[in-house]
Amino acid sequence: MNFDQQRRQMIIDIEDGVALTSNLIGKHRLDNRVMTAMRQVPREKFVPSDMRHVAFRDGALPIGHGQTISQPYIVALMTDMLELNEDSIVLEVGTGSGYQAAILACLAQQVYSIERIAALAQAAQQRLGDMGYDNVETRCGDGYQGWPEKAPFDAIVVTAAAAFMPPALLEQLKPGGRMVIPIGMPSMHQELMLVSKDRLGETHSSSLLGVAFVPLVEED
Ligand code: SAH
Repeated sequence: MNFDQQRRQMIIDIEDGVALTSNLIGKHRLDNRVMTAMRQVPREKFVPSDMRHVAFRDGALPIGHGQTISQPYIVALMTDMLELNEDSIVLEVGTGSGYQAAILACLAQQVYSIERIAALAQAAQQRLGDMGYDNVETRCGDGYQGWPEKAPFDAIVVTAAAAFMPPALLEQLKPGGRMVIPIGMPSMHQELMLVSKDRLGETHSSSLLGVAFVPLVEED
């Protein structure tokens, strides 16, 4: 199968995943715009070159430095939950390969993405730049603290698991904004949480489903 065919199969796998978990996530299909972005972004360019042949399998893959690019179904689901539009300003914590950032870039006005491992941050920045995603700005730093200079955000997606809800991220979410974040200890049960901030600034959170993410590292 060539990459186009594999990408089509990935879309079918995501649709199957959504159908299987519809009672947990409260919907039978994801937004068309999200699925279009998943169809368009060349995932094979975000995985190490010796993994390209398995880039479209519905699983996470190693990207070096002990980190992983998330499973396509999870990327699609987290993106869908953010309910982005062309005016959205989005923060991603955990750039990793830059794949999730590229998906967000297709749907939002501006994406800010932070990665703490310098080599990954640099490689992702280069890759996203080369591929023409010019509405993504990346930075190497501690995303646990958010990105105060660019806040507030319409949406925040955290692609590493935090033990507790990071206060700075809650603060940097706009009223009316949404955040998706896995909460739980490494190698223990983690829950993918959807946090919404109402117009009065009150936050409400609900748990979607069990997940397995690398840990969000809290710097000293
Ligand atoms: N979104 C990525 C997957 C990232 S895996 C992709 O699409 O490829 C999670 C990433 O979060 C790892 O690269 C890890 O280094 C990073 N990370 C962990 N703790 C962090 C922190 N406090 N600040 C910024 N990045 C962090």
